Amino acid sequence: MPGPPAVVAAETRNTGKSDMYPIGVVSLFAELIDPVAQHGVVGRACERGLIEILHESPRAFTSDRHRTVDDRPYGGGPGMVLCYEPTRGAIGALRQRLPAGVRALVLSAQGRAFDGALAAELARAPGLLLVAGRYEGLDERIIEAEELEEVSVGDYVLSGGELAAAVVIDAVARLLPGVLGHEESGMRDSHMDGLLGYPQYTRPEVIDGMAVPEVLLGGNHERIRRWRLKLALGRTWRRRPDLLRARVLNEEERELLDEYRVESASADQNS
Ligand code: SAM
Repeated sequence: MPGPPAVVAAETRNTGKSDMYPIGVVSLFAELIDPVAQHGVVGRACERGLIEILHESPRAFTSDRHRTVDDRPYGGGPGMVLCYEPTRGAIGALRQRLPAGVRALVLSAQGRAFDGALAAELARAPGLLLVAGRYEGLDERIIEAEELEEVSVGDYVLSGGELAAAVVIDAVARLLPGVLGHEESGMRDSHMDGLLGYPQYTRPEVIDGMAVPEVLLGGNHERIRRWRLKLALGRTWRRRPDLLRARVLNEEERELLDEYRVESASADQNS
């Protein structure tokens, strides 16, 4: 089933301050998040005051001389675990600066898979709190006490949650009102309507013997729309049939996908 609309009106969020989306990040390595906040789409959104990224490090909430944030795991085993008190200190400090009702996430290889539908849900929240783990992860009691939702960016293990947090920030930012211009609307991106995107071309018209599909040159917007929808359906059918199984196709989409299948079967025969 297609998810709810991804781009939301600012007034539907509960920020109290209309169009600024606050994101708090708890991390030992703020410098890994900075590049996301300083460049490209997210960088421009920060400059324009559409997003604000706040940071707290657990290290600032330690009381010992060595500013210790980790300790050995109970029960033995390799690695270290992020300690309860400094991490909760950092989370608490950020919560004070964030509006009530933010979605609070911990990045974790054991979490719910992050996808376009979750990004759209998060974009409708009043803001985000992201906790990036390190070492062998967080003391489990932090997750319980703060009621953190565990979210994974893929079935692999990263060395820390910062890159995963950056993925979430970038994907959510694209869906916030005003962040992308009309021209680059996030609604056209892959996954926003349960399909992969259609192929894109730019000048020159012919390069190394490869021409831009004729339909894109004619200026017939309806033909272009149908061609793009057909290619998006076809690509999804070939590359990600799981997405198609999860989506109800309307009559036009069924017709276009059938057309794509017939055309690609005859192209396969001729090759
Ligand atoms: N021992 C942990 C496990 O088995 O799940 C892995 C810890 S990992 C080395 C350190 C941190 O990286 C985690 O606490 C988490 O914040 C982050 N991380 C690793 N893989 C991730 C993934 N696939 N998605 C989101 N965060 C991830």
